[in-house]
Amino acid sequence: MHELLAAINEIVWGPVTIILLIGTGILIAVLVRCFIVDRTLYIDWEVGKIGCEVTELPALFDRLGCEGCEGVNCKGEQHGMARAWPSVADSANPELISHLQQHGYPRMAAAKKGPNSVKEGVIFLQSYDIVVHPRCIQTIDELTLYSYKIDKLTDEVLPILEDRKNHRIDSLRYALERVRRPRTMRTRRVIHGA
Ligand SMILES: [Zn+2]
Repeated sequence: MHELLAAINEIVWGPVTIILLIGTGILIAVLVRCFIVDRTLYIDWEVGKIGCEVTELPALFDRLGCEGCEGVNCKGEQHGMARAWPSVADSANPELISHLQQHGYPRMAAAKKGPNSVKEGVIFLQSYDIVVHPRCIQTIDELTLYSYKIDKLTDEVLPILEDRKNHRIDSLRYALERVRRPRTMRTRRVIHGA
């Protein structure tokens, strides 16, 4: 854990990322905090709820990073820290994003997705060493179980990802989207006479 704490002091890129899904009428909301230092992706906080109301979302996400959070009336120093950070949400439900933007999360944006984005996103994720804080039980679970389908007859690994609950991994993919596809117009610094 010392490694993680040391890393937090030198965050080079650190969005929080969110997934908001409505499956069979049930809202699934997950928010993870992650950041990159060198070639390591750190995940140190997660909050989530299956079956929450849209109006509950800001209060749920405000718990991120708040040790011993006391809920809506919490006075914790870190309470609501996620509001200040950029976040990337599933683009499937723009009305949820717009609700959050209007209720304390103005920096939330929709994921770009695009063709092959799942596959490429997973490969990109795999190119990092991933360190997860032990309190992020769900994230650890998903990362442990995430796998490709296996051909039942030959035991060979197929290029198809298992379709099980991967909400936090999806969140991480969205978070990394901006690193994977840096802005094409990014200004490069040219050092003369160095
Ligand atoms: Zn709190």
